[in-house]
Amino acid sequence: MIYNTKAYAAASATSPLTSTQIKRRNPTDHDVQIEVLFCGICHSDVHSVRDEWSDFMSTTYPIVPGHEIVGRVTQVGSAVTKYKPGDLAAIGCMVDSDLNCPRCQAGFQQFCHNVIFTYNSPDKHKTAPVTYGGYSDSIVADERFVLRVPENLDLAGVAPLLCAGITTYSPLRHWGVTEGKKVGVVGLGGLGHMGVKFAHAFGAHVVVFTTSPDKTEDALRLGADEVVVSRNADEMKKHEDSFDFILDTVSAKHDINAYLNLLRLDGNITLVGAPEKPLDIAAFSLLVGRRSLSGSMIGGIPETQEMLDFCGQHNITSDVEVVPIQKVNEAYDRLLKSDVKYRFVIDMASLKSE
Ligand code: NAP
Ligand code: ZN
Repeated sequence: MIYNTKAYAAASATSPLTSTQIKRRNPTDHDVQIEVLFCGICHSDVHSVRDEWSDFMSTTYPIVPGHEIVGRVTQVGSAVTKYKPGDLAAIGCMVDSDLNCPRCQAGFQQFCHNVIFTYNSPDKHKTAPVTYGGYSDSIVADERFVLRVPENLDLAGVAPLLCAGITTYSPLRHWGVTEGKKVGVVGLGGLGHMGVKFAHAFGAHVVVFTTSPDKTEDALRLGADEVVVSRNADEMKKHEDSFDFILDTVSAKHDINAYLNLLRLDGNITLVGAPEKPLDIAAFSLLVGRRSLSGSMIGGIPETQEMLDFCGQHNITSDVEVVPIQKVNEAYDRLLKSDVKYRFVIDMASLKSE
């Protein structure tokens, strides 16, 4: 059984997002249907809409992006036990996986070979060729991929936690960021500002690297102890051989060697930014000081719930600029100019008038 719902979609890599209708399945036994109240705009939405990751996962059009979703449950399937109509609920970057492979069983659904992302993944229910994301009135997903939302937090500020939040929380936890560690965050955008908040909450000494000098005051307010304008070579040099860990959130090609050189013995840089073009790495940037470079992709469902609960306990949300869906294309253009403080979130009530 299928129903129609409103959405915003792009018809090609060069088309703007425009109003449309899409098909969704009515909830099957394990499904939860959610009315979307807020959906964050992640830079991954822009990469995907413009097919910038075509070498890794090409985009099927039309695409309905959006994987930072909060809303209210409107209907549940007969076997659903965790949610009932009226509950707050959230969906992040995944809506399904095979659930029984070793990675799923370890709670790392994001690394399952059969992970189904919230948009642009094959739709195994065959409602549409691919899954459609949260720039939409409603969404349906298996309850095992639906998250509980702490009741005490501002809902618009919660939406970005579902991607920007977990993508920064997970590697900071994995690499043991705690009190006494010197931690860098490169790029103060949606991911970066959440990385600063978490690293600060974990007790680390936090240094922000930015190409935007006008973000300095904000960075300090968000929890940074120091701010370095990365285009200033002298300022960079002062931090040589000093970092335990650096989280790189930059969305475009940049010189990662400049940051590798700031790591102390056995220090690590984890890439979460996903630029369209490969990065150049000088061997000696890694050899000297036994440094390492790794990557991280979102986080599993149990850790995403842990992160949301942590945010509820510590009153952490994203700093957001709420926009109506009619301004989504403008928001994409501003994102590309690093002009965002610090996450655009769509108020989905604006879709009702379309
Ligand atoms: P964003 O809000 O646009 O932030 C990116 C920041 O990077 C900008 O604010 C800017 O910070 C800096 N930057 C941009 N262009 C730059 C350039 N040419 N050189 C140096 N710095 C530059 O994007 P986001 O939503 O945080 O996403 C960041 C990246 O992470 C994207 O590639 C996205 O696809 C990826 N991502 C990955 C995962 C994952 O699971 N690994 C999850 C979500 C997103 P300053 O102004 O401070 O310099
Ligand atoms: Zn994202």
